[in-house]
Amino acid sequence: MSVRVSSGSRLPFTPLKIDRSKVGFGRLSEAFCICVDKDQMFADRARITVISGKGGDGHVSFRREKYVPNGGPDGGDGGNGGSVIFVVDKGLNTLTDYRHKHKFAAEPGEEGKKKNCHGKNGADVILKVPEGTLIKDAETGKVVKDMSGDVTEFVLLKGGRGGNGNQHYATSSMQAPKYAQPGQPAMSMDLTLELKMIADVGLVGFPNVGKSTLLSRVSNARPKIANYHFTTLNPNLGVVDLDGAGGFVMADIPGLIEGASEGLGLGHEFLRHIERTRVIIHVVDASGSEGRDPIEDVVTINRELAEYNADLASRPQVIAANKMDVIPDEADEVLKRLKDEFEPKGVAIYPISAATGEGIVELLYKVSGMLDELPKEKITFEQEFDPETELRFVDEPFTVDYDEEENAYVVEGPRIEKMLGYTNLESEKGFSFFQKFLRENGVLEQLEALGIEEGDTVRMYGLSFDYYK
Ligand code: GDP
Ligand code: MG
Repeated sequence: MSVRVSSGSRLPFTPLKIDRSKVGFGRLSEAFCICVDKDQMFADRARITVISGKGGDGHVSFRREKYVPNGGPDGGDGGNGGSVIFVVDKGLNTLTDYRHKHKFAAEPGEEGKKKNCHGKNGADVILKVPEGTLIKDAETGKVVKDMSGDVTEFVLLKGGRGGNGNQHYATSSMQAPKYAQPGQPAMSMDLTLELKMIADVGLVGFPNVGKSTLLSRVSNARPKIANYHFTTLNPNLGVVDLDGAGGFVMADIPGLIEGASEGLGLGHEFLRHIERTRVIIHVVDASGSEGRDPIEDVVTINRELAEYNADLASRPQVIAANKMDVIPDEADEVLKRLKDEFEPKGVAIYPISAATGEGIVELLYKVSGMLDELPKEKITFEQEFDPETELRFVDEPFTVDYDEEENAYVVEGPRIEKMLGYTNLESEKGFSFFQKFLRENGVLEQLEALGIEEGDTVRMYGLSFDYYK
C-alpha cells in the first residue's frame, strides 16, 4: 500500500464508558439501537452566556484650586466597557472548554475621575473556538456567525461606551453642571456554539459496517473499533495523505440511524457533522455478516440525509463495499447487485476490505480525484441574526440630572418618554410596573448616586413625583 500516514488531528475525546445510569436511548429499530453517555455526546456543542462590559459613567467634579473659589467642572469621561470577541484558534479541536464554564463577562469601563481623568477601559473577553464553530442565538437558533473561512475574529458584543464627564456639559447658562452621562449598559446574550467539523470526506453507514476500521487504516486516526453496536459515538477525524495526489481530511460519522432526520434518536447531533463534507463515502457490509441488505442501507441513509438537508442528497458519493475478504463468492454477488443498482445513477462502487487493505488505494485515489473536481470553497453559513441591530442597543436610554433652580431631579430620555406614553400611572398596577422599570433600568440607582433623599422631587416630562424608597 502506498498510503502514507501523516500527522493529522484526532479529536481528543475521552473513550466511551457506558454507564447504565447515564445512558440515553436512541430509537430502537429491529436492526439495532444506539446508546450514548449523554455527557459525552455534546463535546462539540455548548451553551454559554456572554456579557459585554458596561461603559464607565462620566464623573461629576469641580476644580479645586487655591484662590479659585468656583472652579469649573472637571469630571472625566468613563472608560469603555470590554467587548465580547470570538477568535479562531487552529490548535483547538473541540468545544470542551465551554462545557465546564458557561458564563463569560468582559470588564466594565472604569468611572471617570476628577481632574479630567479618563476611566480605564474594561478588558475584552476573548473566546477561543476551533475553526468551524457556528455561533447561534440560543433563543431563536439563528446563526450569528460562522467562524470559518476568512472569518478568524468576530466582535459579537461591543463594550458599552463610557459616559461623558460633567466638563462636557458646561454652557454659558450652566457653568456648574452636576450631571455626567452614564456609561452605556452592558449587554448579555445566550449562545449555542456548535462545532461543525471541517472534513472533506464523510464516512457514513450503519453500525458495524467497518467505518472506523477504514478510517484507522488510511489515516492516523485511532477510532474505537468493536464488534458491537455502540462503537463510535463521537466523530473522528483523520488526515489521509496520498502519493502524487491531494490528501484530505476524512471523518468517521457515527450513529446515523433510521429516523435521524426527524430528530429521533441522536440523529441531528451527528448529521450536523456531515454538512460540510464535500464527498460522502457510503460504507456497506458486502459480506452480509450482519444480515443487512447493502442496497437498502444506502437508500435509507440517502433518504435520511435528504430529509435533514436537501443539499446533502446531491453531494457526490461513492460506495465502498466492505468486508470483501469474507465469503468472497457471496460478496461478489452483492457487489454485482450494488453495481446494477447504483452505477447507472453515476455512483461508483469500490470493493474493499478494511481488514486486509485490499481495494482501499483505488478508493482513496477516486475520492481524491473527485475532490479535485469540486469547488474548494467550504460550505459556510450566512448570518441570520445581527446582535447590533436585533438587540437594539439604545445609545442614551435616559439621563438623570439635578436641577438646582427647581430643586428637583430630572429624568429624561426617549425610553422614559416612551414608557410614560404607554403606562397608566393612575392604576396601581401601572404605577408599580413603572417603578419596576425605573429600578431595572438603573434610574433609581443613578438618582441615589446623585444624592436623592426621601421626599425629594423627581420630574419626568411634566410629571412630578415624590421620591420614597
Ligand atoms: P463501524 O461501526 O462502521 O465503525 O465498524 P467497525 O470499524 O467498528 O467494525 C465493526 C466490525 O467489523 C469490527 O469487528 C471489525 O473488525 C470488522 N471489520 C471491519 N472491516 C472489516 C473487513 O474488511 N473485513 C472483516 N472481515 N471484518 C471487518
Ligand atoms: Mg465505528
